[in-house]
Amino acid sequence: MKRRAVAIGSPARVLHLPPALRARLRQHAASQAPEEACGLLVGRRASMEVVDVLCLPNRAPLGRFALDPLALIDAEERAAVDGLEVLGPWHSHPGGEPGPSEHDHASASRWPGTIWVVVGAEITAWCSEAGALQAVRLGPAIEGGVVQSAARGGPDPAARAAGGRR
Ligand SMILES: [Zn+2]
Repeated sequence: MKRRAVAIGSPARVLHLPPALRARLRQHAASQAPEEACGLLVGRRASMEVVDVLCLPNRAPLGRFALDPLALIDAEERAAVDGLEVLGPWHSHPGGEPGPSEHDHASASRWPGTIWVVVGAEITAWCSEAGALQAVRLGPAIEGGVVQSAARGGPDPAARAAGGRR
């Protein structure tokens, strides 16, 4: 049923998450284990493109994650300055579960339209729709030029995110 819902929603939908950003998610997740790591995805919703990932403090007890609301507001303001937007949260599953927990689905239902990334044994992407998280494909699957092609007319967001920002 969950997979069927994806097909109904948007079969071609792909979230572009550059390898450098995936590496940063993995790195921060490992540094926070056994606690869940969390943060925000910043990018362009229209093109489903993640340009930066923010690693933020987890305000929740072990086994959950909660973002600081002030950090969220700050991130939205900073993203807007760059012509970007906060797409949604990312968090880790130190136990390796690749998909959202029931608690994640419940949380996402209160934040419709957001994109979620879960860092477990695999990195998976989801979109909050119709009261639950629906699977989204992750791209690009390979390293290299695909990401740059998404950055037409501007500085390479992957390179900027990987090294130029603090
Ligand atoms: Zn979770």
